[in-house]
Amino acid sequence: MIPETIFPWQQSHWNLFNQYLIQNRVPQALLINGAKGLGKQQLAYSFAKALLCNQRLPNAQSCGQCSRCKLFNAKTHPDFINVSPEEGSKIIGIDRIRELIITLALKPQFENYRVVLINPADKLNNAAANAFLKCLEEPNERTCVILLAESLSKLPATILSRCQKMTLTKPKREIANAWLNQQQVIENKTLLLNLAQGAPLLANEYAKANILPLRQQCFSDWLNIANGQLNPIEIAEKWYKQQVSLILFWLISWSCDLIKCFYQTQTINLYNPDLQISLQELVGRLKLKDIYHFYDNLLQSRQKMDSQINQQLMFEELLILWSQLNQGN
Ligand SMILES: [Zn+2]
Repeated sequence: MIPETIFPWQQSHWNLFNQYLIQNRVPQALLINGAKGLGKQQLAYSFAKALLCNQRLPNAQSCGQCSRCKLFNAKTHPDFINVSPEEGSKIIGIDRIRELIITLALKPQFENYRVVLINPADKLNNAAANAFLKCLEEPNERTCVILLAESLSKLPATILSRCQKMTLTKPKREIANAWLNQQQVIENKTLLLNLAQGAPLLANEYAKANILPLRQQCFSDWLNIANGQLNPIEIAEKWYKQQVSLILFWLISWSCDLIKCFYQTQTINLYNPDLQISLQELVGRLKLKDIYHFYDNLLQSRQKMDSQINQQLMFEELLILWSQLNQGN
């Protein structure tokens, strides 16, 4: 279980939640959305624990001491229901939602709220999402459903329209930097935050996993393919054994920066300011329409990542195309 935490950039969200409690209008369905690495789960757990707690503190936080908080900490609170994809599965299927509907037909076991966490809501498959609507259409006694999603575009409009929305956005740089300092992330903070698109938890994860050497290696492979010095098929074979989604994300960010370099944007606006000199050189010999073409292919590949795509083949196709565009074919 993710420990509940309220991060410094979530204070206004917490204040809003506190208002809900004071005014006794806790939403029946609350959708927390925002990019990966902004702490959606931690915030949701903080809300849940506070709703279940018997002796909330004046700022609406849970006490951490009462019998309900202890049950929550032990993951055995009967009125906290976590709905996530089962291990090894990418989706939340209809069976899990049917089970949920049966549970919700019963009263909560304690006198406080009951909390259902749908985590993440964009993993409900179609049948499950349709069945889940029933939970939202017929509000259940003292029940708050919290849904988490990275992007609203993957959720059916019927679900969206029934939820109160709370959007997490990336914090100001100084707030993110201060928090990263507390996590002992000292070196390369700016670069890590850029790579994480401003999401502090993701930047911290990148720092702990020491991803920068891999990124440097992949970038140099990519340049050497462009220079005709490396074979795209060999590199595809090497890459698909690594962190595939991360490498794909880097390719997208490099291509995006190529387009920006073409329009001579300022360094500060690049995702990869440290790579600007090499990117600028590439732009000097590529055609803009080819860069867009490559970028479109990358986006299509990313969409297919959710399905059973052959990742080695995906890299082969992308890198062969990349090689051809650089040879002017
Ligand atoms: Zn408590």
